[in-house]
Amino acid sequence: MDREELAPHAEELARVLGEKVTKDRLLDELERYVNLYRVSLEWAKRDILKKMGGDPGSIGNGSGRKSVAELTGAEQSVDLLVKVLTVNPKTIEVGGARKNILYGYVADESGRVPYTVWETESVQLKEGETVVIRNAYTKEYKGAPQLNLGNRASVERSDEVLDVADMPAGGGHCEVKVAELAEGMNYVVVSGKVSKIERKEIVAAGERKNIVTGVLTDETGSAEFTIWKEAELQEGAEVRIVGAYVKSWRGIPKLNLGDKAEVQVLAAGTLGDLAGIAPKARTLLDVELSGGGMDVVVRGTIVDVREGSGLVMRCPECRRVLQKGTCRVHGKVKGVDDLRIKAILDDGTSTMNVVFGKELTEALLNMSIDEAVRLTTEERNPDAVKELAEERLFARTLEVRGMVRSDDFGPMMIAREARAVEVDAREEGAKLLTELEGFE
Ligand SMILES: [Zn+2]
Repeated sequence: MDREELAPHAEELARVLGEKVTKDRLLDELERYVNLYRVSLEWAKRDILKKMGGDPGSIGNGSGRKSVAELTGAEQSVDLLVKVLTVNPKTIEVGGARKNILYGYVADESGRVPYTVWETESVQLKEGETVVIRNAYTKEYKGAPQLNLGNRASVERSDEVLDVADMPAGGGHCEVKVAELAEGMNYVVVSGKVSKIERKEIVAAGERKNIVTGVLTDETGSAEFTIWKEAELQEGAEVRIVGAYVKSWRGIPKLNLGDKAEVQVLAAGTLGDLAGIAPKARTLLDVELSGGGMDVVVRGTIVDVREGSGLVMRCPECRRVLQKGTCRVHGKVKGVDDLRIKAILDDGTSTMNVVFGKELTEALLNMSIDEAVRLTTEERNPDAVKELAEERLFARTLEVRGMVRSDDFGPMMIAREARAVEVDAREEGAKLLTELEGFE
């Protein structure tokens, strides 16, 4: 960089330092750092300020460059140097119009942040690339910053090497919550309480091996884990797992601890009281991003009651739903009545299939299964209960807790708890989106 290019930066430093140092002296310093030492301009400015008794934190507002860990969720314009970890295209509907967006994660050495690209024509991202993102903005969502690239944002490829994937395990840099665990993540650091500890002997590559499985729970959710070696672990212990990787098992992200992973046992009480607390509600987009979980809470409006809802007959042997009194496996059988609702939930950010079993369906419809059978018989209409469900549940907003599995058709929740809430989740989500740039 020549002196002309550096001049505005020297001025910025001079403003911070006041009368202490001349602009020429600062320009000399900057030139030396950038052209001789070949450090980044950002680093040069911060180091010069430090050396000369100024506050390095006082710049950065002007230049806008921040690290991921510095994001507050309130940035109106921010620049980042990050590695693109994942890129997922998605079509959403906003105000009746279809719109293509990209979402995923970017990271630098300080951490990882979810992003959304709202203008896919002007901004392209590729997995594995290191880029400088300019003029992005952030929003806080449920206590965590989310990065947004709107119509003012630009992206430029960078040759700088960000060793994000090779972050040293235990550096504490990529500490995540259970709800953030997503397929493909590496070197994960996560803390929680362990339960359901089981020791198993398996045969791997012809050798007998002892492994330990269990469930890790923090305030955001629960995840199964497997330690692929013998490990001392007490039921109820609070632990910090360092260096695990995440792979989905039957559509749910699961922690795997290989040879390099470590389990640090924390002092009891370190994580606070985790008993009896439900995870916080997440957006459907967020759940879709991470690919499901064992214990997830979402809020959404019922936009469809699907085929197969209502009163069904199940095989007494295998619980499969009978078709015309016939089980696929056991043939003609005397069926057992069951009640269920398959609904589509929408919170404005995405949609999700939810299945409510008998007890929840009885509660949601305020009707026992016997009453459902009576209604079906009286009306001589096999769809009587489904029609009632449509009438009673359509456009109602529920908070639902359950297990979410993901497959090619997206996430699906098996509900375990459900309660009506007064807000319109779809409107809330749509508001969240329209507040963002590009949707006036
Ligand atoms: Zn059967």
